[in-house]
Amino acid sequence: MTPLNNRQFLLARRPVGAASRDDFTFQTVPVDAVAEGQILVKSEYLSLDPAMRGWMNEGKSYIAPVELGAVMRALGVGRVIESQHPKFAAGDYVQGALGVQDYFVGEPKGFNKVDPNVVPLQRYLSALGMTGMSAYFALLEVGAPKSGDTVVISGAAGAVGSMAGQIAKIKGCRVIGIAGGAEKCHALLNDYGFDGAIDYKNEDIHAGLKRECPKGVDVYFDNVGGEILDAVLTRLAPKARVVICGAISQYNNKEAVKGPANYLSLLVNRARMEGFVVMDHAANFASAGMEIAGWLAQGKINSKEHVVDGLETFPETLMMLFKGENTGKLVLKV
Ligand code: NAP
Repeated sequence: MTPLNNRQFLLARRPVGAASRDDFTFQTVPVDAVAEGQILVKSEYLSLDPAMRGWMNEGKSYIAPVELGAVMRALGVGRVIESQHPKFAAGDYVQGALGVQDYFVGEPKGFNKVDPNVVPLQRYLSALGMTGMSAYFALLEVGAPKSGDTVVISGAAGAVGSMAGQIAKIKGCRVIGIAGGAEKCHALLNDYGFDGAIDYKNEDIHAGLKRECPKGVDVYFDNVGGEILDAVLTRLAPKARVVICGAISQYNNKEAVKGPANYLSLLVNRARMEGFVVMDHAANFASAGMEIAGWLAQGKINSKEHVVDGLETFPETLMMLFKGENTGKLVLKV
């Protein structure tokens, strides 16, 4: 049998500021033989995540950086072609860290089987993937919303934000989303059932918060950091919870991250701000997945995937996240 060709993106250098094609090597190599304990997977869809930009940086974080010369890390879903592992068989569909490449060969550490007959395969990267898990645990465990609370979410029309907002609605909250542009704000109100929207690109964020949150903000789910975080801090209600899920406005900084100037609002309001890492909740992913699958089946959650075709487009497609060009969960079809 002729060996399979594997197109791969390797991290060639550590980006300064925004990443670009020049930071990667795009190569084609034959697929390695499958050894004992390993599986060979054909990638079908790869998850493109803002966190990938952080994984390219050197230094201590919640996960080791991608090494220079290594295949760029990416979660994905694909089909097992060959297995030398007792838990997987050829024909199984799996979710795991496949990397930005056509084929994964290796030990299936942390891989799970998925069923494309239950939901479309790409949904295992959105509502039923890390996106859904992040929204679920960050909101419910850290944000701890109560029925009637006002919940504000930034990056609200994105993958995690739109899920978090819909879960907050299920929990009986009043949900206000902050997103860039009229189209995204329209989607918040009409596709995701939010109660209010603030278009941070076209209106004054402070005025928008005053209009939409007259009684203050009980839970702030932050995906963007920077000036938007600072603005929401000024409107906290007593005992508010600020969930630091992400800070995409800061990921491409060439200088130090800009911290919030208005943090003393935490003191005045006896509020708290807490960081969140989804992997801390891995032990409970299966039960959360069941609950989210139920909401999807009942039509209580709308999950949108923004699919871009072609592994070869990886660097430019990744950068769509930082330009606000994605609507819903950004995935690359391999
Ligand atoms: P996403 O929201 O689908 O896409 C990113 C969105 O961020 C863009 O569409 C854009 O929306 C917005 N954005 C980009 N640059 C911005 C800026 N300078 N200021 C304000 N908004 C900006 O991405 P996602 O996968 O759902 O991730 C959302 C956040 O969750 C990220 O910060 C990510 O790192 C974080 N996250 C954290 C964990 C964890 O374990 N802590 C896990 C998953 C994700 P607009 O058009 O509205 O600007």
